Amino acid sequence: MSTIFTKIINREIPGEIVYEDDHVVAFKDIVPFAPVHIIIVTRAEISGVASLPDTGDHTYMLNAAKTIAEQQGLTNGYRLVVNQGEDGGQTVNHLHMHLLGGRLLNWPPG
Ligand code: 5GP
Repeated sequence: MSTIFTKIINREIPGEIVYEDDHVVAFKDIVPFAPVHIIIVTRAEISGVASLPDTGDHTYMLNAAKTIAEQQGLTNGYRLVVNQGEDGGQTVNHLHMHLLGGRLLNWPPG
């Protein structure tokens, strides 16, 4: 079974891809919460943080986030978010990180 994010990775459905390497693909969130809102997703279909293997594509996510933030010109800062499970607000069960920036972000989140 392929997740909606895998369909974007495979170009089966549209997505505004801004970055990709051997391990992760990043595209603009369809409902952005900030001027920059990018989803960084593992090529491997890992369902979430609770299912992380010891090694693999997820270990590259932070490095990709740093590169994308630089490419997006987020020199004044940004936020990285990973939601896990129902209480964490995860809606797509394919491991991904949100990269948010381009405005002052409130804290704490709701
Ligand atoms: P989660 O709630 O699982 O942490 O985040 C899932 C994110 O994926 C949400 O912010 C949602 O807007 C985004 N999303 C869901 N479906 C699609 C889609 O088909 N295309 C894009 N670009 N983003 C999506």
